[in-house]
Amino acid sequence: MMHDKGLVIVLSGFSGAGKGTIMKHLLEAYPTDYNLSISATTRAMRAGEEDGREYFFKTHEEFDSMIKNNELLEYATFNGNSYGTPKAYVQKLIEEKKDVILEIETNGALQVKEMFPDALLLFTMPPSAAELKNRLVGRGTETEEVIAQRLAISNKEAELMERYDYLIVNDSLEKAVDQVHNIIQAEHFKVCRNSSAIKEMKEQLKIFERSN
Ligand code: 5GP
Repeated sequence: MMHDKGLVIVLSGFSGAGKGTIMKHLLEAYPTDYNLSISATTRAMRAGEEDGREYFFKTHEEFDSMIKNNELLEYATFNGNSYGTPKAYVQKLIEEKKDVILEIETNGALQVKEMFPDALLLFTMPPSAAELKNRLVGRGTETEEVIAQRLAISNKEAELMERYDYLIVNDSLEKAVDQVHNIIQAEHFKVCRNSSAIKEMKEQLKIFERSN
C-alpha cells in the first residue's frame, strides 16, 4: 500500500537520555526507511564529531544569516548556543514522500508541530532522574557546571512532555530502537494518513457495483 506521504518525525528527550544513540542504531538497522536531518549549531565541536555528520558547525554570524535568509525550518537556543533545522533537506524529503527524523529540543519540536500539524512527536527519557544524571556524568564530555545546567534544562523540558504523541523509556537501547521503529511504522497505517488508498478502494468498488 502506498501511504499518503512521508512523516515528519521529531525525537526529543533530555540531554543524556540517549536520543543520539537511538538514532544511530535506528539508521543502522533501517538505512532505507529513515532520513536524519542534520542541524546547524553554533556550539563547539566535541571530540569525535565531524562537520556535516553530527552537525553543520556555524559561527554566530553564519547562523544569523541562515535565519535572515529564511533557511531554517525552526531554531532555538539551548544552553547558550543556537540550534536549527535546515529547511531545504526536510522539504526535499517531504516532496519525495520519505520519512525524515529531526532530533531536536522541545521548543523547536513545538515550532515544527505548528508548521506540520501531522508531525509525529516522540519523547525519550531514561527510567529515572538518577539514571539521567549518571549518564550525563558517565559521558565524560561535559564539565560539572554544564551537567548542572543541562539538568536544569531537563526540568523545563519536562513541562512540555505532555505535548508529545509518544513516550519511549530508554532502559534498553535495543528495545527503545524497536519501539521507535514500531511506532513510526504503525503511524503510517493510521486511517487518517491513508486517504488516497481509501479513496481508490471506494472508486474501484463503485466500478464493480456498476458493472454488476
Ligand atoms: P547537543 O549539544 O547535546 O548535541 O544538543 C543539545 C540539544 O539541542 C539537544 O536536545 C538536541 O536535540 C537539540 N538540537 C539539536 N539540533 C537541533 C535543532 O536543529 N533544533 C533544535 N530546536 N534543537 C536541536
